[in-house]
Amino acid sequence: MPTWRTHRAIVKAAWPPELPRGELLRGVLRGVVEPDIEADLVTRCRKKRCREARAPHHDPPEALVRWYYDLAHFFRARGDMYSAGRALGRALHYLHDGAVKTKKWLLLNVHDDVEAQMDQLTSQLPHICNGAKHRRSNNPVEALCHAYALTSALLRQFAADAISPQIGAYYKARGRRKKIYAASAVVLAAVATAVAMPYAALVPAAVGLLAISFWTPRDYVLAMRGGAMCLRPTWGKPAMTC
Ligand SMILES: [Zn+2]
Ligand SMILES: [Zn+2]
Repeated sequence: MPTWRTHRAIVKAAWPPELPRGELLRGVLRGVVEPDIEADLVTRCRKKRCREARAPHHDPPEALVRWYYDLAHFFRARGDMYSAGRALGRALHYLHDGAVKTKKWLLLNVHDDVEAQMDQLTSQLPHICNGAKHRRSNNPVEALCHAYALTSALLRQFAADAISPQIGAYYKARGRRKKIYAASAVVLAAVATAVAMPYAALVPAAVGLLAISFWTPRDYVLAMRGGAMCLRPTWGKPAMTC
């Protein structure tokens, strides 16, 4: 994985002018190295047995990165800029690690070498990435510039996507209304069916209601970003939560 110095240098170089520094930046500089100390656990299920494993850094689940991004919004809406930064930093850590392609089948530790070279290139950020090709790669310039581009994009998105607590509360209410409507529709359909065929509607209705109770409407994600609710992650156990 990229060195701590690399992680932090990418953040500093990619920080957009529209985002305040201060506590937020301090939090990001901490969070961007944190997953190496405090691991996130992902739940892996094979057949019926589930177990928890350390989240893979070089091929992180998208849901994990997105969850930390939403968590950063949650803390910002609540006015806790340091925690917002830490959550955002954790999301960025995985994006950085994911930019480096590893060759697992090689006995030689090739990717350590790539990462040492990336570390030496950080002093040339951001101009080294001007017009440079960037993608998930084991070429140090391409990987570094990919991490830089992803970081810049996520930070800008974070600056642009801010949701106020009032809007968050609105989305929470709207999401709840949608769930109630969906549940009522299932119950009404079951009642209508039961008139003709008693009991035939019971099992599908129960399945439908269960599905609705597990369903997370998009409104809830926006409500979390507004600090109005804390969603449970679906991918496992995060090291940091709201
Ligand atoms: Zn890592
Ligand atoms: Zn890229």
